[in-house]
Amino acid sequence: MKIKESYKEIVVDAGVTMLAEGLTVGTWGNISIRDVETGLVYISPSGMDYREIKTSDIVVLDLELNIVDGKRVPSIEKETHIAVYRAREDVNAVIHTHPLYSTVLGVNGMELPAVSEDFAQIVGDKIICSKYALPGTKELGENVAIGLGEERNAVLLPNHGTLCVGEDMKSTLTICHVVEKAAQIYILALSIGKPHLISAEDIKAMQDYKKNQYGQR
Ligand code: 13P
Ligand code: ZN
Repeated sequence: MKIKESYKEIVVDAGVTMLAEGLTVGTWGNISIRDVETGLVYISPSGMDYREIKTSDIVVLDLELNIVDGKRVPSIEKETHIAVYRAREDVNAVIHTHPLYSTVLGVNGMELPAVSEDFAQIVGDKIICSKYALPGTKELGENVAIGLGEERNAVLLPNHGTLCVGEDMKSTLTICHVVEKAAQIYILALSIGKPHLISAEDIKAMQDYKKNQYGQR
């Protein structure tokens, strides 16, 4: 099956960005992308410094978790990444991060509602906290897929971090940023008063606008 260097580069670059922009710490978190043409998934190696990962360290898996290319041990969350691709045909990139504010909500088992326009437009009406499972388990993947549901683009992992999904790597990185920013906003808003939440009707209107009208045409 055709292995594409360009997909490996996308995973490497996203790792550097994720770390540099404070979305994760150390070697934690992991990243993958799906090649829609071949159905193969390119995933980050386990426990390696994002600043040192090269394209030759990226592991390529099929949806049965067989290693198709690469010499490294793949991320321990490979089952979770694959579970998401199996559950969501619209998803072609998955980023799992260990960020500060989103994890605070996950520690408390709280949901994150759509507190801002950007969140409503690209993440969903809210994101929920999935059921707990140990890192690196199949059960974590099942819980994450359930927690994402059919439409939401992120989920909180209790006492762990977040997982964000999107149609490509660029939009998924943006989703990671927007989720973490919204978590910070929500926590700050809760600390000084009662946050006002956006109505379901307005969330829908913003999502339609983003899909059909926002930006350059
Ligand atoms: P990997 O380094 O194996 O990807 O694991 C990091 C992590 O965040 C586990 O949940
Ligand atoms: Zn993790």
